[in-house]
Amino acid sequence: MSTAKTSLITCQQCGRRIMVRPADVQRGSIVCSHTGCGATNLLATAFQYDPAIVQGLPGFGELRHSVSPDLAYPLRFGANVIGTGDTAQVRVERYLHEGRCYISRRHCTLTVTFDTWSGRLRYQLQDGAADPTTQASMPSLNGTQVNGSALRPSEQIDVTGDDILTLGGVDAFRLVPYTINPAMLATYRVELDYNPDRTQ
Ligand SMILES: [Zn+2]
Repeated sequence: MSTAKTSLITCQQCGRRIMVRPADVQRGSIVCSHTGCGATNLLATAFQYDPAIVQGLPGFGELRHSVSPDLAYPLRFGANVIGTGDTAQVRVERYLHEGRCYISRRHCTLTVTFDTWSGRLRYQLQDGAADPTTQASMPSLNGTQVNGSALRPSEQIDVTGDDILTLGGVDAFRLVPYTINPAMLATYRVELDYNPDRTQ
């Protein structure tokens, strides 16, 4: 899959832009043309994964309450509002502690995306949720903690299977991420010609 196009890379030595032609890509390297530099820049091949893979996945992971780990709350691709209300995508039980529930109706948002560079699902958590009508961000009443640290308003952090998500300071959940089968992932690998300036 080679494309007969020119493109620009940044010289690894002098930091100036160099024009890359198809012949340079075939050779796998390019010598910097800028005066006083002349550095050889390697054009490393790279690959990505086709995000269409998510359409064929059987699941996107789940949350398990620390006290009742047999009860799994499945996640979906995209935004998962977690809470006790009927507009939450992940509707959890009203866990009572001395008669009181600390989880809001729309408590926090766990967003599942596909990282095309690593081929893994990515999980990002933030406190509160967008109001279904106004789309305004509404924080939870009692806050959201990851491994004991409270999330700040509008802060969004990556969470993994080792992290403990605590809703309202009381109810702890563990994320069980979905791991994509490596053999399946390999079939969605997309080779790139070389590694141009990419910004992540
Ligand atoms: Zn240079």
